[in-house]
Amino acid sequence: MRLLEERILKDGKVRPGGILKVDGFLNHQMDVNLFMDLAKQWHDAFAGDNVNKILTIEASGIGLACIAGLVFGCPVVFAKKSKTKNIDGSLYRTRVESFTHGNVYDVIVSRDYLLPTDRVLLIDDFLANGAALEGLCDLVEQAGATIVGAGIAVEKSFQPGGARLRERGLRIESLARVKAMYDDGTLEFDD
Ligand code: 5GP
Repeated sequence: MRLLEERILKDGKVRPGGILKVDGFLNHQMDVNLFMDLAKQWHDAFAGDNVNKILTIEASGIGLACIAGLVFGCPVVFAKKSKTKNIDGSLYRTRVESFTHGNVYDVIVSRDYLLPTDRVLLIDDFLANGAALEGLCDLVEQAGATIVGAGIAVEKSFQPGGARLRERGLRIESLARVKAMYDDGTLEFDD
């Protein structure tokens, strides 16, 4: 069994509504040694793809993306949540529907930090309905940069995001794939 799957079984908690709580090691308290191991797995998967930038989304992708940035040796950019208007055209902006919070918000990236020459790896903690990852793809496409693929920690494969984005041609490397979560608090992984 993979390291992240073992950790989910040990410390993850299944919550009602298809939510997996991983606050103790992934997105509140962060186990940075685990993050280093995950980042190395993404590095192995995308070796030879000439990644020169990592893009994630505020807030819970940032820790993982920073460790990945160390391993890939490249800058890390995070799409910022924003309420301000883009009056001077200096930003790329997209809308994201939050799975966990049930709301819609705008995220922005400065045009200075996503360039047409960039080869971008997208990083996030979860892939559920795919809205966060789709938003990141949209920002990279607005910049005319290349999307190399996505490194995801936990994909909930019983939700439609992964299948839809792979169909669109996005390469996704998920390090744990949860295929079912049950009311008794147990879960199953994909093979
Ligand atoms: P999506 O946009 O793919 O529906 O959801 C991705 C975002 O929602 C992730 O960035 C993550 O922060 C959050 N998320 C989705 N599902 C879960 C979950 O089961 N547990 C936690 N902790 N966050 C989740």
